[in-house]
Amino acid sequence: MSKQPSTTLGTLFIVSAASGTGKTTLVKKLLETTPDVRLSVSFTTRNKREGEQHGVHYFFVSVDEFQAMVARNAFYEHAIVHGNCYGTSREWVNEQLNAGIDVILEIDWQGAAQMRQQWPDCRSIFILPPDMTVLEQRLRGRGTDSEEVITKRLAAAKTEISHCAEFDYIVVNDDFAQALNELQAVFTAERCRTVNQLLRQRARLGSFSS
Ligand code: 5GP
Repeated sequence: MSKQPSTTLGTLFIVSAASGTGKTTLVKKLLETTPDVRLSVSFTTRNKREGEQHGVHYFFVSVDEFQAMVARNAFYEHAIVHGNCYGTSREWVNEQLNAGIDVILEIDWQGAAQMRQQWPDCRSIFILPPDMTVLEQRLRGRGTDSEEVITKRLAAAKTEISHCAEFDYIVVNDDFAQALNELQAVFTAERCRTVNQLLRQRARLGSFSS
């Protein structure tokens, strides 16, 4: 579905990265410093980690509940990541975009590929860690996952990173402040694109033609 000038005002952004890249922290800071943008809360079948809240970090559902949502086409995209199901609510995303709110999806490369098919006007950003050693340290530093999970995630990280060329932008998260700057720059540039400004600035532009 391509952007419909008279109906959809918000822009859909996708942010992907291998686990441990610092994507969640970057996106959190971006949300704090950028108006009119919301983060989509995904549905997942994975177990809740300590400190996570239902409806805030994820909607934690059973495999049966997830399958029922797949059956009723409730997801824009869904994928199995590290052995658990994850999906993006179609209804919530549509509501935000139609209300002129930009939406960020923090999803994996498989979900990003599905979204590009359905929403060609989306903008996708891949966050790269500085190198594999730093990524491993960051994964261990989190201290919430078992050794087995960490080993699996390191292997998955290489797969995830191998898809970075499919994204519109690549931001390296070596220096956090610089990475945040670059991410903010992508958002700012995208919002200034003529196709978006013709919609957002409709009233202003109208005042010049009367
Ligand atoms: P975690 O369980 O560590 O929060 O996330 C694991 C991976 O699942 C991350 O790469 C994250 O981007 C991805 N993920 C989270 N929500 C979704 C979703 O709705 N769809 C897809 N395809 N991936 C997701």
